[in-house]
Amino acid sequence: MTENIGVLGKKSPQRTDVERVVNVPLPTVYGPFQAVGYFDHERGDEQVALVYGDPGPDRVLTRLHSECLTGDAFGSRHCECGDQLASALRAVAAEGSGVVVYLRGHEGRGIGLLAKLRAMALQAEGLDTVEANLALGLPVDARDYGVAARILDDLGVRSVRLMSNNPRKREALVRHGIQVAEQVPLLIPPCESNITYLRTKRERLDHHLPHLDAVAHASS
Ligand SMILES: [Zn+2]
Repeated sequence: MTENIGVLGKKSPQRTDVERVVNVPLPTVYGPFQAVGYFDHERGDEQVALVYGDPGPDRVLTRLHSECLTGDAFGSRHCECGDQLASALRAVAAEGSGVVVYLRGHEGRGIGLLAKLRAMALQAEGLDTVEANLALGLPVDARDYGVAARILDDLGVRSVRLMSNNPRKREALVRHGIQVAEQVPLLIPPCESNITYLRTKRERLDHHLPHLDAVAHASS
């Protein structure tokens, strides 16, 4: 058995498992952010937080955004991730300060990109997003938010106004020691391609999506 040896060759039980590696200005179409890069030694993931202005410690406008290549980069209409990411970055810039933690390793609620694409194929055949994961023998939601809490802690954030419709994110942050002063809805108008998916998130995953009522009534 080898012991846990730090990079300096000393045994380092105190070493934080999420290490800040770099902090660099990142000008974006939404405004000037700082990109703060972290390495998660425990899981081997590279993570990044986008910080706008000087958020301070309390009631920081915050988004924990789960990586979604198809939604974030390709503009997929299967889900609303891309619009949520853009809305969160816009909101933080409008506020003058805030944090968007972009969580890699969260594809398809933590099952990975290829499994997510396979789950999407099953959804095209009529399964919902929960049934599809289960049909593949995979968990409905395998995401872990511990790294997000440690990144917020490193940034000096004690309490957040969390831009999310997902009660599990709030619960996870609180469990990991970050206070949630408020949950701020991030409601994206649905489209024909994602309305079924969004209804499933509301009905089976307890997401708070009150804006779907109008659409649900119109098309039922
Ligand atoms: Zn997505």
